[in-house]
Amino acid sequence: MSLKPWYKDGLKFKCTGCGKCCTGTSGYVFINDEEVEEMARFLKISVTEFKCRYTRFAYGKLALIEKKRGSDYDCVFLKEKKCDVYAARPVQCRKFPWWESNLKSPGSWKETADECEGVDHPDAPVVSLKEIQQVLKQDGFF
Ligand code: SF4
Ligand code: SF4
Repeated sequence: MSLKPWYKDGLKFKCTGCGKCCTGTSGYVFINDEEVEEMARFLKISVTEFKCRYTRFAYGKLALIEKKRGSDYDCVFLKEKKCDVYAARPVQCRKFPWWESNLKSPGSWKETADECEGVDHPDAPVVSLKEIQQVLKQDGFF
């Protein structure tokens, strides 16, 4: 019996840089101490200043704050559709769209495609099972 997941033949994905995953309905980007330190270092500010300016507590964990823009909630680091801390962005962001919740079933992957235009994009290459599994192994809060 095969224990391979339903996406054993890989999945199509290519980030278009639309920035939609950093805005929209309110949500949480959870971060751990290591990620805070990395972003603070990247921004050349102290961890204390970083926490004061950019974080909040949610569900007992530290998360980035959001900025309300019309009916949307932007991540505090979203500037003109680009991430201001891209090189030091949290693991939760690096892993998207390869989240366990998105990969649960073909249905959940389809729902992810409704939110992210890079999922199943006609020009997207197939990302192999091995590549997906490597991303899933990354540590972080997520
Ligand atoms: S929504 Fe998808 S395509 Fe758009 S920036 Fe995010 S990951 Fe890339
Ligand atoms: S940290 Fe960067 S990649 Fe992550 S949600 Fe915010 S703007 Fe997007």
